[in-house]
Amino acid sequence: MREENGMELLKERIRKDGKVKEGNVLKVDSFLNHQMDIGLFREIGKEFKRRFAGEEITKILTIEASGIGIACIAGEEFGVPVVFAKKTQTKNIAGEVYTARVESYTHGRVYDIIVSKEFIRKEDKVLLIDDFLANGKALEGLIQIVEEAGAHLAGAGIVIEKGFQPGGEKIRTRGIHLESLAIIESMDESTGEIRFRESAC
Ligand code: 5GP
Repeated sequence: MREENGMELLKERIRKDGKVKEGNVLKVDSFLNHQMDIGLFREIGKEFKRRFAGEEITKILTIEASGIGIACIAGEEFGVPVVFAKKTQTKNIAGEVYTARVESYTHGRVYDIIVSKEFIRKEDKVLLIDDFLANGKALEGLIQIVEEAGAHLAGAGIVIEKGFQPGGEKIRTRGIHLESLAIIESMDESTGEIRFRESAC
């Protein structure tokens, strides 16, 4: 894969198979969120490895469910364990877990995520991975957990950022090393047209 446009393959796939739904939701069920194209995942994993080559990473942290597949393939590239935050509706879970509250973009409700204290330690250097970045709530929840653990946040790798929503700017403004492999500038529900930000490649 060529360095200057490493993720052209991903963008082509989004253009070909992505479906723009109401509420600024992009459906990519045929290769990312339901059926998974492992060949493409492998390219994505390699691209994350290339973009975070300068960072020391000891652990990947993602959120269930749709981040897990991507995170696993990335974990293989980096040679580190993958931890996923579990979504739960149980309140007041005491003691052994870190928790954060996350507002779901696609389902519109609020849920708690938990990670066992056993699996994120203060010596860890954590790379966050997720499939989408929209308003930044999922990443903010994961960041909160890394901070609570006293671990080092090495960065965040996102497959598809919707650049017209505020999450990316919020995370970058905090000085966090954020890498999004495809940044959508705009998408049109009526025509299905998807435009990408050129600097993303
Ligand atoms: P955020 O927390 O940044 O608002 O949204 C990110 C989370 O919501 C991701 O974990 C992803 O699962 C989901 N999400 C946000 N926007 C989209 C979208 O357009 N399509 C899909 N399939 N998931 C999305």
